[in-house]
Amino acid sequence: MADPVLPSFDLSRNWKRVRKETLEAIVKVLDSQHFILGPEVDALEKDIASYLRVSHAAGCASGTDALLLALMALGVGPGDEVITTPYSFFATVSCITRVGATPVFADVDPDTYNISPINILDKLTAKTKAVIPVHLFGQMVQVEEFSEAISRRGAFLVEDCAQAIGATRVINGRVERAGALGDIGCFSFFPTKNLGGFGDGGLISTNSDALSVRIRSLRVHGSGKQYFHDEVGLNSRLDEIQAAILRVRLRHLETWNEERRLVDERYRTLFAEMNLGEWITPPAEAEGNRHVFHQYVIRCSHRDKLKTWLAERGITARVYYPLSLHLQPCFSFLGYKEGEFPVSESLSQKTLALPIFPELLPEEQERVAAAILEFYKNGIFDHS
Ligand SMILES: *Cc1c(COP(=O)(O)O)cnc(C)c1O
Repeated sequence: MADPVLPSFDLSRNWKRVRKETLEAIVKVLDSQHFILGPEVDALEKDIASYLRVSHAAGCASGTDALLLALMALGVGPGDEVITTPYSFFATVSCITRVGATPVFADVDPDTYNISPINILDKLTAKTKAVIPVHLFGQMVQVEEFSEAISRRGAFLVEDCAQAIGATRVINGRVERAGALGDIGCFSFFPTKNLGGFGDGGLISTNSDALSVRIRSLRVHGSGKQYFHDEVGLNSRLDEIQAAILRVRLRHLETWNEERRLVDERYRTLFAEMNLGEWITPPAEAEGNRHVFHQYVIRCSHRDKLKTWLAERGITARVYYPLSLHLQPCFSFLGYKEGEFPVSESLSQKTLALPIFPELLPEEQERVAAAILEFYKNGIFDHS
């Protein structure tokens, strides 16, 4: 008999937990017949601003648009350099080329997979207009190690928080949330994110009154007053239904993030009990960080064979990300070569994301760990 399928994430288990309250919230919107940028979006923006402890939050159509709106609002354009990581989702970099600016990559840390502060400082020039650290897989970058250096140069800090809502870091004795440290924070509500909607959605956070006003104008075609356009913006708005769904889900976010942290503890214990340390390295949590494990990304030997081995046993593991961004065909015009960002390139060969979601069961994790043990103990990779 075939093994039951264990997906890398299972949204349906989560749906069952909030079905009733979500349906009520959706019906309320349908009864109001107000669909775009209305009272639910206003309320969500207030809820999230207070959760992050920032002055403003503005909904938009996706995490990708949040990044694009951020760079537009900061006036980033042709001739400007924007420093970011080569090891992230595509949208982190496409927003830079979309506004006509030049992406400058800084290599990542092999343990946290996050952009390394020292490498950022190394790449700062008179042309640097912004830095986009990505809080990858749910863990914050050590932003305090470069934030002063970049503001001294008049450059902006844009945090890509798409994978890190609820992540915190202790800085100067204070607990700081992702999205509250930079000039702008960008969030995604893509369904599989830690706070996911039932469709696309995004949000921008900022402590600047002026940036908040400009972003609110840019998301509606650059108009402060309807039908009068100060500049050319986007159509990038959040739907009332999505906002209503997200408000319900925001109430559970802390619980779900804690459950993800429990999944991490259980994996860690299992790997230690099975002495898997010789072959796999679980994700590292940097000092002072509260990781929210959007993904559970290990480093391992014989990655591709392990992935196939798990798939044959019904366990879905995924690769984030198989090709470093500096090597993407669409960025070949930037002139980067293989070997220029060795840590990012090596991670793209060695990392594997194991199943993780708040409802993942201990026995399912035991199954994953046992399958990994079987693979390495029997030397499957040598003769397959
Ligand atoms: C998901 C994601 C985005 C883009 O968000 P969308 O809502 O899918 O447009 C940007 N950056 C990172 C790091 C992401 O994971």
